[in-house]
Amino acid sequence: MIISRELTAKEKLKPLFDDPLKLPFGKNFTDHMFSMDHCGSGWQNPCIKPYQPLVLQPSANVFHYSQEVFEGQKAYRSPKNEILLFRPRENARRLNRSLQRLCMPEIPEEMFLEAECELLKIEERWVPGQKGASLYIRPTVIGTEAALGIKASSEYLFFIILSPVGPYFKEGFNPVSLWVSATYSRAGSGGTGEAKTGGNYAGSLLATREATQKGYSQVLWLDAGEHRYIEEVGAMNIFFVLGGKLVTPSLGGTILHGITRKSVLELAPELGLPVEERRIAIDEVIEGIHTGKLTEIFGAGTAAVISPVGKIAFQGSDHVINGNQTGPWAQKFFATLTGIQYGEIEDRHGWVFKVK
Ligand SMILES: *Cc1c(COP(=O)(O)O)cnc(C)c1O
Repeated sequence: MIISRELTAKEKLKPLFDDPLKLPFGKNFTDHMFSMDHCGSGWQNPCIKPYQPLVLQPSANVFHYSQEVFEGQKAYRSPKNEILLFRPRENARRLNRSLQRLCMPEIPEEMFLEAECELLKIEERWVPGQKGASLYIRPTVIGTEAALGIKASSEYLFFIILSPVGPYFKEGFNPVSLWVSATYSRAGSGGTGEAKTGGNYAGSLLATREATQKGYSQVLWLDAGEHRYIEEVGAMNIFFVLGGKLVTPSLGGTILHGITRKSVLELAPELGLPVEERRIAIDEVIEGIHTGKLTEIFGAGTAAVISPVGKIAFQGSDHVINGNQTGPWAQKFFATLTGIQYGEIEDRHGWVFKVK
C-alpha cells in the first residue's frame, strides 16, 4: 500500500506532556491521523495527515443508522526503547468480524497492520516511556454515504487516531463497585453484542448513569432473556475465582470477544489456575461471596487491563468481595500481562508485535 503523507512541520508539532501518568483517558490526541476511504471498489487514498475535523454531510449514514465500528489497542515503549503492540492481528480479525456484522466492507489484515505501523512510526515520540502510560489507538470505520434510505452505505471512511493515556482508573489499581441493573441489558441474542459498534455503548449509558448516581462505578450486565446470567462488567469481560478455578461467562453472541479475556484464559493454566467457561448465575456469585467459595472478581480489557471488583449491589444489598481489597490473582494477571505488554518479561506466546 502506498500511503501519501502530509506532515506537520517540526516547529508546529504539539508539545508533549510533562507527566504522562496524569493524562486523562482519551482527551488528548497526537499530531497526525491515518485515513482511507471506500466507494464501492475497494479501499483507496490511504494517507497520513494532520489530526483534523472530518467533513461529512448531515445526511451521512453514520449519523442516522449508525454504521460504525471501532477497535481499542495500545502501543507501549519497552525498556529497550522499542515500540510494541499486543496481539494486533487479533484486533484486525475482530474489526473484520464487527464490519461483517454491520454490513460494512472488511479491511485486509495486512493493510490494517501497515496503516497502524506507519502512523506509529511517525508518531513515535508520543509513546510514553513511563510504565502505566501508553499510546491508545482508536481505529474506526463509519458509513459516509449521504442518503436517508435505510440500507448499507455505499461509501465508508476508515481512520486511526492516537491518544496518549495514563492509567485508566484515577483511583489506581483499587477495587471498583458494581451495580446490577434489574431493568436494562447490554445485548440480546441475535443482536450486535459481539461487535465493537458504537450503538452498544449508546444503549448502555443510561444504566451506567443510574449506577454512578447511586454511588457505584460500573454496571454488572446480566443476560437480556432471564436477567439471571452474568455477561460483562461495564465495557470489560468478567472473571470469578470460584472454588479454586477461574470462571468466566462463555461467549455466546452477546459477549464481546476480548483479547485481554483470551490472554487471561491462556495464562491462567500456566500460572496454576484451571479455567472454566460457562454460564454463571448472579445467585451463584452472591452465594459464593457469602460461603467464601468465591474469592475474587475482576474485569479485563485493554484500557484498564485488569480491574478488581470489591463490591456488588444486588436486590438492595451490598456484597463485599475479599474485604474490598485487590486479590492475589488480579494482581498476578495484571503484573504478568503488563510485564509482557511493556516488553519486560519474556513473551513465550508470541503476543508482542514490534513496530520498531
Ligand atoms: C473492547 C471491549 C472489551 C475488551 O476487549 P479487549 O480486547 O480485551 O480490550 C470487553 N467488552 C466490551 C463490551 C468491549 O467493548
